[in-house]
Amino acid sequence: MARIVMKFGGTSVADLDRIRNVAAHVKREVDAGHQVAVVVSAMAGQTNHLVEMTRAASPMHDAREYDAIVASGEQVTSGLLAIVLQSMGVDARSWQGWQIPVKTDNAHGAARIQNINGDLLIERFGIGQVAVIAGFQGIGPDNRIATLGRGGSDTSAVAVAAAVKADRCDIYTDVDGVYTTDPRIEPAARRLARISFEEMLEMASLGAKVLQVRSVELAMAHNVRTFVRSSFEAPDAPGMDDFDNPPGTLICDEDEIVEQQNVTGIAYARDEAQISLRRVRDRPGISAAIFGPLAEAGINVDMIVQNVSSDGQFTDMTFTVPNGDVEKSVATLDAVRDEIGYDAVQSDTGLAKVSVIGVGMRSHAGVAATAFKALADKGINIRAITTSEIKISILIDGPYCELAVRTLHSVYGLDKP
Ligand code: ADP
Ligand code: ASP
Ligand code: MG
Repeated sequence: MARIVMKFGGTSVADLDRIRNVAAHVKREVDAGHQVAVVVSAMAGQTNHLVEMTRAASPMHDAREYDAIVASGEQVTSGLLAIVLQSMGVDARSWQGWQIPVKTDNAHGAARIQNINGDLLIERFGIGQVAVIAGFQGIGPDNRIATLGRGGSDTSAVAVAAAVKADRCDIYTDVDGVYTTDPRIEPAARRLARISFEEMLEMASLGAKVLQVRSVELAMAHNVRTFVRSSFEAPDAPGMDDFDNPPGTLICDEDEIVEQQNVTGIAYARDEAQISLRRVRDRPGISAAIFGPLAEAGINVDMIVQNVSSDGQFTDMTFTVPNGDVEKSVATLDAVRDEIGYDAVQSDTGLAKVSVIGVGMRSHAGVAATAFKALADKGINIRAITTSEIKISILIDGPYCELAVRTLHSVYGLDKP
């Protein structure tokens, strides 16, 4: 007997038929004698719909009320799945975040889980009951519902798995694992049998939405054995009940991966914007003067490029922010223009960032040069570059995003078995 957390995303619970299919996956594990907690998302499209209604009610709304509204999608699916399981003879009970409780910080709309008390859930496991938990939500120190940011049900699942010391956390979704790149963009993408926590963290942070970034951080910190697998495979298909090697991708420690490639995957993020400050009066403290106010305004600055000032007096400073933050960024910089001292601020929206990821890069030279040449051969202009030990990110014009992803995917042979 083992303890398993199973998470089902929006497309997996999109309607009652899909919820019945999910219930069959759950029943399979229950029948195998396992203790099971299920974490569900809202039905596909439901959270978007709720977010839109909130905005329509008032663009400048109270974040606590936003959370009260957008958390409701998960309440519905947790109840529906509990009912369907009960009708199949499985003892099941729904749980909202506050009932467990999943305690979060006060950052409504993007809250972080601080603590989960697993006692009540473990007590129910003891009487053979399946817990069906509403993902994406918890309760803040102000005693109000708090949501975990978009895609947050992944994080709920991994956090619950850590809290109840589950043997495995299975993230069921509409793809059968983590691929070398988004299979929706590159049909030749291949499923990875395993990927290291570090690489998955980079893939997720750099745009691969298959897992929320925070869920990977938690899996890594608490060593949660996490699989990404498909809910669209028949619940009774051969191998689905294989405990040690279920079909899908295992997120694990680097040393559990035998054959290491130079490059493991390609990620992309659209809706990036570039802002350039021209002829900035160069002096010690200039970066703090620019990026301090942006940080205070809650703007997430990503790539930063500073030119050498040839005469030691003037420099250009270029950085990227999400498209949606451009106006706020420009207004923030305008307000401190005299303190910073610059001639002009320019912005370009609709850009894309493509990233090459792989722990093998640590020990192999030339990975970046290969990317630059491949993009040049396709006539794709590079606007900015950032690198770390295990990734290279390249900023390009948005319309070239798909071409760049496919080009990089093939230049590193990721489409070859
Ligand atoms: P869920 O609703 O189950 O949480 P998501 O839509 O959040 O599902 O995540 C699954 C999607 O992630 C896939 O449909 C796929 O298009 C996308 N995706 C992006 N990058 C990757 C990747 N490298 N591997 C697999 N899926 C990816
Ligand atoms: N329903 C939430 C969202 O769409 C959480 C999730 O699906 O993970 O972002
Ligand atoms: Mg998701």
